[in-house]
Amino acid sequence: MALTFKEVRRLFQVPSRGRVRLSDYDPGWAADEEFKELTKDELKAHAAGLLEKNKADLAKAQERLYASDTHSVLIVLQASDAAGKDGTIKHVMSGVNPQGCQIYAFKKPSSEELDHNFLWRYMKALPERGRIGIFNRSYYEDVLVVRVHPELVGRLPGSDRAKDFWQGRYDDINAFEQHLTRSGTLVLKFLLNVSKKVQRQRFLERLERPEKHWKFSISDLEERKYWSDYQKAFEQMLQNTSTDHAPWWVIPADNKWVTRTLVAGIITRSIEGMGLEFPTVSDKDRERLEAARIELSAGK
Ligand code: AMP
Ligand code: MG
Repeated sequence: MALTFKEVRRLFQVPSRGRVRLSDYDPGWAADEEFKELTKDELKAHAAGLLEKNKADLAKAQERLYASDTHSVLIVLQASDAAGKDGTIKHVMSGVNPQGCQIYAFKKPSSEELDHNFLWRYMKALPERGRIGIFNRSYYEDVLVVRVHPELVGRLPGSDRAKDFWQGRYDDINAFEQHLTRSGTLVLKFLLNVSKKVQRQRFLERLERPEKHWKFSISDLEERKYWSDYQKAFEQMLQNTSTDHAPWWVIPADNKWVTRTLVAGIITRSIEGMGLEFPTVSDKDRERLEAARIELSAGK
């Protein structure tokens, strides 16, 4: 995929102003026309090569982040079921140093979590300086699944939900991300955009292959019935929370290799763009290191 980062931005980064339409983003996008002519195996081989290169670049970027110990990166992954979140995490992070990486998967909130403000549980899981943190689902669930099923909203101070309740949540999220950005956290948000047709194929595959049964839950099928409600909730989310400090990326997810190479590439380029330097050693420290080297090489 010989796209420049500028082109990747133009195609997949959601502008912070203007109307957003999810239909402007093609889940089946597969790079250039030339790729459409390749067979599935050829594509796979091509993708594997790209991913190896991606992995090495990301490992280097992560090392710089870890060494500088001033900033952190928060990667937010949202998607419909079977869009490939887990596989993307596995592939993208397989080359990086596990010490510099922390991953949280957020499920239905516990009663303790529901007894707090909705950002509480995410706040506690943020990456330390020097680390990459991945949120497999995030506070965006609180304007997605909860928006589609409003009965999931926890107890609120007033008896009725305010008219501008959702706008309030978007505002809170934007302020939260602004706060993170100011504190040195780069926030990267990916919506893996799978089509309804490919979701069906992947569900069927999970049902047809016993070794994949564990990946399927009956509730996935239930949620599929709300497909258009989710699309609307995604669109509202993008429209209201793609900001200059933390823009959304809508990633085509019908082809797994496309998803993985794009996500890995965007993370790498974004970390490189932070301008981090390896810590430098002062003259005094360098003298001490030299003295230590001499002492050790003298066999002491
Ligand atoms: P999975 O990621 O497939 O293991 O499923 C996790 C489930 O938790 C999904 O059905 C999510 O919709 C649900 N979930 C995650 N966050 C929230 C939230 N804040 N409120 C309600 N449900 C959530
Ligand atoms: Mg699931």
